[in-house]
Amino acid sequence: MAVKGFICGLFISFLAMSGICSAEGLKTVEVWKNLFTVTGDGVDSNTIFLITRDGVVVVDTRVTPNEAKKVLAEIRKRTDLPILYTINTHYHGDHTFGNQVFEGNGPIIAHESVRKNLFGDLGKDHLEAFKSKNIPGMDETVVTPPNMVFKDEMEIFVGGYSLRLMHVRGHTDGDVFIYIDQLRTLITGDLVSYKKIPSLKDAYVEEWISAMDLLADFDAEIFIPGHGAHGGKPVLIAMKHYLLRLKEMVLKQLENGKSLKEAQDAIRPVLTEKHKGWKNLKWLDANIERAYLEYSLK
Ligand SMILES: [Zn+2]
Repeated sequence: MAVKGFICGLFISFLAMSGICSAEGLKTVEVWKNLFTVTGDGVDSNTIFLITRDGVVVVDTRVTPNEAKKVLAEIRKRTDLPILYTINTHYHGDHTFGNQVFEGNGPIIAHESVRKNLFGDLGKDHLEAFKSKNIPGMDETVVTPPNMVFKDEMEIFVGGYSLRLMHVRGHTDGDVFIYIDQLRTLITGDLVSYKKIPSLKDAYVEEWISAMDLLADFDAEIFIPGHGAHGGKPVLIAMKHYLLRLKEMVLKQLENGKSLKEAQDAIRPVLTEKHKGWKNLKWLDANIERAYLEYSLK
């Protein structure tokens, strides 16, 4: 039996019944049998783990080694089976800076750009940028790039599951999403953020919109985003609509010869109203700028 029976501390009745368990600022949710997400209070990137009959697959490693150790503890509450594979959906530190905790437990897999990006100056600069955010335990991070990479696509067959890893460009140049056929589930990385304005600082907006269509073609019922709660297709649609609105409004401003500042002043209030209740509305100006620059080159 792969999954240990467990009780979520004091939260026995309601939370255990709903598959939710909180520990040390982390929330663990059982999405589906043997498939879990772990999210923090502060840095809210999702880590996902799948317990198979042969071992565990981890997707993204949170922002610090200490946070990654908490994820490992959540896994160990449920199984003693080995960690067989760790996958990074992209290079951003809130998804990779816990890698060192999983190193030596099977390969750490990602798109080849993730390894390139984390090595050298970009990785160092990215770590410094995260250190400036005063995240507890950030100083313990040693940038640990993936040690197994691929270009376009790979498949992992493990413990009764098949995981299809596919590369697209969108949120970054090295995005990977994962389709678990047996669970009809897509793990999207930051190609999808749910009810949170995404970061576009490394983005390719037009390719990102195309990636949304590719994701929509999969026979999936569950979508697990890089940030925010999982759900059905509306999780994907909300992201696509955000990107389409941004694109359309930026194109209109460009057609009318507006400056970046004029475009931001025109678009910001509309997107704020449309996405009321989303986190990170303060990133709208930067997103408008990224789209403005991309479409002014087309
Ligand atoms: Zn990201």
